Amino acid sequence: MSEAEKLFKKLLDQVKIAAKFEYAASLLSWDQQTKMPTGGAEGRAEIYAVVKTEGFKRFTSDAVGEILEELAGMEEKLEIEKQALVQRISAIYQRSKTIPPDLFGAFSEAKSKGYSIWVEARKKSDFKLFKPALEKIIEFTRQFAELYGYEKNPYDALLPDYEPGLTTEDLRRIVSHLRRELVPLVRSLTEQPNKPDETLLQGHFPEDLQQQLSLQVLKAIGYDFNIGRLDTTAHPFTTSVGPDDVRVTTNFVVDKMAPALFATIHEGGHALYDQGKDPLVKWLYLDVGYSHGVHESQSRMWENMVGRSFPFWKFFYSRLQNILSHFKNIALEDFYRAINTVKPSPIRIYADEVTYNLHIMLRFEIEEALLRGEIEVEDLPELWNAKMHEYLGIVPENDAKGVLQDVHWSEGYFGYFPSYMLGNLYAAQLFAAAKRKIANLEEEIAKGNLNILLKWLRAKVHRFGLTREAPDLLREVTGKGPTPEPWLDYVKEKFSNIYCVS
Ligand code: ZN
Repeated sequence: MSEAEKLFKKLLDQVKIAAKFEYAASLLSWDQQTKMPTGGAEGRAEIYAVVKTEGFKRFTSDAVGEILEELAGMEEKLEIEKQALVQRISAIYQRSKTIPPDLFGAFSEAKSKGYSIWVEARKKSDFKLFKPALEKIIEFTRQFAELYGYEKNPYDALLPDYEPGLTTEDLRRIVSHLRRELVPLVRSLTEQPNKPDETLLQGHFPEDLQQQLSLQVLKAIGYDFNIGRLDTTAHPFTTSVGPDDVRVTTNFVVDKMAPALFATIHEGGHALYDQGKDPLVKWLYLDVGYSHGVHESQSRMWENMVGRSFPFWKFFYSRLQNILSHFKNIALEDFYRAINTVKPSPIRIYADEVTYNLHIMLRFEIEEALLRGEIEVEDLPELWNAKMHEYLGIVPENDAKGVLQDVHWSEGYFGYFPSYMLGNLYAAQLFAAAKRKIANLEEEIAKGNLNILLKWLRAKVHRFGLTREAPDLLREVTGKGPTPEPWLDYVKEKFSNIYCVS
């Protein structure tokens, strides 16, 4: 074994120790969101903070720093994938080192408490209840931004957590391009007389049947239950609680089947990414420091480009009809149009494909202004509603359906939302590339051969995606860096067909 190989192995051993704490913290958090009694929140926050901080200390230990230093200049002797992994670890290490462990611990505790308070505040639709916790979280976030350092915009200091390689300026450019095209597109579609009939999707759908449907759709896309499971939570999510234990959750609404079904496919898409990691990177447990946009591209691709496509339903519709008799007399074509209704609505996670990015723009603009200190937490409900009106022409009926709807801020995820928008764009870019590379992809999907797409994604994205910056990965796989064009082409073509726009 060469010297470089020896050091690489030593580095992985250290990273693995940190990952064990991270996975344990992740299990605590999964339990908090699925099983824990409400009364457990106070104590859990403390336990979580200790485990999380311990993992952080291991990752930022001098031992890791020394190995990285010794490895510097020797990386070229390693295989390309190992080099990429070392670079990723090094980048996160340098960044984490700027945060004192005590501060990290205090923030972890504030976030865990913030989550429980948010659950309560959303239930009661009471923003005032959440306000002090959110103020504290933003104070921490601003402090972190100062420690990470930035040139012009504190938001730039946060982005490497979620989108290494992208700047606030890049996002602004993408946002203004999208807004220019999207606002008129939404208007033109919603003004069409020939609208899909989305009332077809309403009925009575008992939870046990929806559960069956969710399990079946996860199997269909290739989710491996041997290393995963499905549960229910207020806010659907995916989490890894071990290198081979990737869990998903969903949320059932009894009078509508679409929200749970598409949330399940969405989370399933995230899980496929995590289940497909190369053994080399499985013990690199990270909740930050990699492209969440690429992660999101996998969930959005399965949810929308596959899950809301006609070919997929040609294959899956009879299975749905077998579980939910409500659809026995509804034609496939009508069902397909109904699940693709474009209609401005208050809740992001249930938004249609076309209006979805407008929800993200609003959050991006609010977060950026908050970080710069241009607005304060108490302004949020009013500002939220004003922007909803400006972009989508609607005002949520209460804060639970407005500013309190998302879990992210309670968990300190500032700078995360743009990854959702980027995820849509990356998904379209990657899916267009898949269509170019895989012969008859749509015919294969219509036959239920979804594995052909999964195999391609495994090789091109899942195995080592975690160690790449999104612009590099996209150039490698699609020939181009991040661009909104393929996504705009995709929605324009799909929805002008569905809405019969000439
Ligand atoms: Zn997602």
